[in-house]
Amino acid sequence: MDVIVVGANIGGAVAGGDLAASGHNVVMLERDLKRKKPCGGAIPPKAISEFGVPSRIIERKTKRAVVIGPSGSEVGMDVRGTKAREDDYICMVTRETLDRAMREKAQDAGAELREATFLSHEEDAAGKVHVRVRYRGGREETLVADALVGADGAGSAVAKSCGRPAIKHASAIQERLYLPDDAMAYYETTAELYLGDDVSPDFYGWIFPKSDHVAVGTGCRPEHANQSYAFLEGVKQRAGDKLRGSKRILLEGHPLPMARYKKLVYGRTLLVGDAGGMVAHTSGEGIYFSMAAGRLAAQTLHGHFGDTKFALSRYEKSWQKRYGAMFDFLEVLEKWSYRGNKNREFFVDMCDTKEVQELTFDSYLFKEMAKVSPAHHGRMALNGVKAALRNWTKPKRPLLTAPPVMTAKQALQLTRAAVADGVAVDERSYASA
Ligand SMILES: Cc1cc2nc3c(=O)[nH]c(=O)nc-3n(C[C@H](O)[C@H](O)[C@H](O)COP(=O)(O)OP(=O)(O)OC[C@H]3O[C@@H](n4cnc5c(N)ncnc54)[C@H](O)[C@@H]3O)c2cc1C
Repeated sequence: MDVIVVGANIGGAVAGGDLAASGHNVVMLERDLKRKKPCGGAIPPKAISEFGVPSRIIERKTKRAVVIGPSGSEVGMDVRGTKAREDDYICMVTRETLDRAMREKAQDAGAELREATFLSHEEDAAGKVHVRVRYRGGREETLVADALVGADGAGSAVAKSCGRPAIKHASAIQERLYLPDDAMAYYETTAELYLGDDVSPDFYGWIFPKSDHVAVGTGCRPEHANQSYAFLEGVKQRAGDKLRGSKRILLEGHPLPMARYKKLVYGRTLLVGDAGGMVAHTSGEGIYFSMAAGRLAAQTLHGHFGDTKFALSRYEKSWQKRYGAMFDFLEVLEKWSYRGNKNREFFVDMCDTKEVQELTFDSYLFKEMAKVSPAHHGRMALNGVKAALRNWTKPKRPLLTAPPVMTAKQALQLTRAAVADGVAVDERSYASA
């Protein structure tokens, strides 16, 4: 066996599929093939074209993003960068269809998929990787390979087996709400982002449309996790009548990495996607980055298969070269823009300028730090000063206040009420969030 890939969602499936297509003997291990990964499912069209995702799985093409601040102020932004293009939209997908499509693609390329849990691994002096796995039913086995890819998501068992301490995680929860046609009409091409202490003290709340439902979610740091349900309720309260006639169909949650590993290579093991903390701080966007990392890991392994393990550190360097500056910038932006309602209101105000919108969507759609002219920067700086003056001297409207603290016990009661109501609850994922 050449390579074992742990985790067969997007990151693992891209790595496994690319390696198999290059002629390698690949086994992908996935501990639960039926699970739906809790996720907003918003991806740029670039992810579709670059990784050969079948376009039939796109449920909505969102052309407008509305950002709603802590005072209720709204800024609607058309999804387009500096130059208008045909594919100026955000693709909305469900993870069960995306993950299945990518797994099938990897299998078509020749990768073998096994439903099994990675337990631990060791590398011997000859550079062989010995991987302990457990199959459904309890049988255990040791597999031997030349390299290991850890694409097993947040709280990665592969990273732990490499000796890495766990990275910081946020808790993200989401409800899928079925919407009748008249309410869905508004969300047909629109996504919403809510900012404020009532929806999250650390992040933002979202409403992302799918074909027959919307995904309503929010995330927060672990110290606020016992209020998650209060924040989710906060998003729904803010949306109000727009969610009229809705019916909950699923309640789900999962940890979201809040820090990056600078070190991604351990001997002949490479970490990919959430396992390496590759999630953009401001948006929580990780799908594209996990797929991109899967491809980069496969290219590095293919290009240096017989080389010493040190050659594999090129993967780390190429990742850092391609996305390091973007992640550094987003980290700073996140620290600044989500801290306190005043900053958030200012952030929303800043979104109300063409220059900021173009820059945001250039970066989102094309995954590069957009290059803009000094005049563009100048206009953004001027708008920033104007927005700051407006918000710190004479706010347009009073800011909303935070919701009452909800205890873990109350949150549990809400979950039980949901179950009693017939709502499917992904309990394992909720517990892990
Ligand atoms: C609520 C929520 C909303 C989000 N919304 C968005 C969004 O709208 N857009 C976006 O771009 N990103 C979003 N993200 C982030 C995105 O979901 C992740 O960044 C992305 O799924 C990472 O993909 P991955 O393949 O690295 O890991 P995962 O998708 O987590 O896959 C890891 C896989 O490994 C398997 N596994 C785990 N442990 C083992 C083991 N020991 N043995 C075998 N298999 C194992 C798991 O079962 C899983 O299938 C969201 C995240 C959350 C939690």
